[in-house]
Amino acid sequence: MKRSRHLACLAFAMLVTVAQRPSAAATWPGVPVLMYHKVDAVVPRDAVGRDLTVEPAAFEAQLRYLRDHRIATITAEELARDLARGRRPQRAVVLTFDDGYEDAATVATPLLRKYGARGTFFVSSGFVGTPRHLTWREMRAMRAAGMEVTCHGTMHLDLSTLDRAGQTAEAGGCVSRFGRYLGGVRPVTYAYPAGKFDAVTLDLMKRLGIVAAFTEIPGTVTDLARPFELPRRRVRHDDDVARFGELVTP
Ligand SMILES: [Zn+2]
Repeated sequence: MKRSRHLACLAFAMLVTVAQRPSAAATWPGVPVLMYHKVDAVVPRDAVGRDLTVEPAAFEAQLRYLRDHRIATITAEELARDLARGRRPQRAVVLTFDDGYEDAATVATPLLRKYGARGTFFVSSGFVGTPRHLTWREMRAMRAAGMEVTCHGTMHLDLSTLDRAGQTAEAGGCVSRFGRYLGGVRPVTYAYPAGKFDAVTLDLMKRLGIVAAFTEIPGTVTDLARPFELPRRRVRHDDDVARFGELVTP
């Protein structure tokens, strides 16, 4: 009798556990997606340029923080694929780097590789091969090293200021150039210059086969309910390791 009551309790406890699962999933805090621009020892004097530049020693301290706290780096594409399959990555972060400056290949990628980490690089295709920017050759090598290299417009224009034809040229031009110069690889993630977009942009992303597009709206990525309005958190020049710890905490 005592044993059967114990089993009944156990069964009830299991039922409660099962019942709690959906609410536990609903409170999943999501994955932070961080936004960098330059990782470079040369820090511009102007306030905006300075704020966009993280020094290599600071970046390395951040990578050590992730390693020491067992926080995995996944690419934006992997995050989107996981969410599409109903998976919820735990202790994970996405590191993204905007614009396609040459330090992405010469500084950021080597440091990421040193720590077994990976990043997503959003590149404006119209600047590829111009002074101080990435080349297609470097971008192919970064992809071969496990980095995601994908679209950030053609001429880095604010999409919300363009009509449909302008947006199609700006965003579609980037997607087609990537396909042509990166061995037929089709970009599936996108970041809007200045984080700006409108209703036309959302429709265009779908038509271009993009599965996830990033803004500068604050927050963490918890689902793909609004796949073309995903949030990101900016990493600033003066962020210390404590602040970085906050940024990677969902
Ligand atoms: Zn940008």
